[in-house]
Amino acid sequence: MATPKIVLFYVFTPLPDPEAVRLWQHTLAESLGLKGRVIISEHGINATLGGDIGEVKAYVRATKSYEPFRGADIKWSNGQGDDFPRLSVKVRPELVTFGTDDEITVTADGVQGGGTHLKPGALHKLMDERGDEVVFFDGRNAMEAQIGKFRDAIVPDTETTRDFIAEIESGKYDDLKDKPVVTYCTGGIRCEVLSVLMRNRGFNEVYQLDGGIVRYGETFGNSGYWDGSLYVFDKRMHVEFGAGAESIGRCVACGESTPEFVNCADLACRKLYLRCAECTAAGRQPRCTECVAAPYPAEAAAG
Ligand SMILES: [Zn+2]
Ligand SMILES: [Zn+2]
Repeated sequence: MATPKIVLFYVFTPLPDPEAVRLWQHTLAESLGLKGRVIISEHGINATLGGDIGEVKAYVRATKSYEPFRGADIKWSNGQGDDFPRLSVKVRPELVTFGTDDEITVTADGVQGGGTHLKPGALHKLMDERGDEVVFFDGRNAMEAQIGKFRDAIVPDTETTRDFIAEIESGKYDDLKDKPVVTYCTGGIRCEVLSVLMRNRGFNEVYQLDGGIVRYGETFGNSGYWDGSLYVFDKRMHVEFGAGAESIGRCVACGESTPEFVNCADLACRKLYLRCAECTAAGRQPRCTECVAAPYPAEAAAG
């Protein structure tokens, strides 16, 4: 592959016939040899696709030629080639699975009732004016924040996006209800929904980082409020915004800074945990900390 590129974008817009859009998107992406994941629902489209730059550009042009997708904000990043195992284009009830389909209203203008969008520059303006009050609220799964997050961000205890409702209804964040809260996620899509859910539950001043961490990193690199690496859902697994990014993640075996996630060797677990390249090469601690704490069934039986 000459110049591998990855595109990431979403559009919230009413799609009366998601199945027709799925067929079109599948044919389009497949004909161009792209791989990755596209989710379509009655609320729009969410896509992460990789391929050679010429083919990816042709895909973007064709996708934007469909009127409801014309305004799609496309985020580009460099791939390594073969970043995704296959092409998957699916219709789902929700673009992001919060389990709150009926709480979200989407019009041609996007999601209704969400937090105020802040572009990276506007976020810095808010921080300049009210930095002492502003709270960053991580809209991703907690695991992703292990290698990078906004400074002093609150990281809810979430294994999947479905866990957010219980978290924001738990009362543990009630002290934030009258503070300026900035939600952020990888590309911005999860915050489109999360910020609605938070506003509906009494958080009075909610902002969402427009374009997510990806756009912020392009704009400010490591010189702003972002610390560490960004977890991504393809073979790269993490990206850094320029040189000098030190991951905030720590290897479970040696404690060194690392952005490298590996799967737990226990086949019943397979959870991702942090282990540096050196410890991986040396075969140190092949299981996650929870599995290390719990004995193997065989050991338990023998012991
Ligand atoms: Zn290590
Ligand atoms: Zn494990």
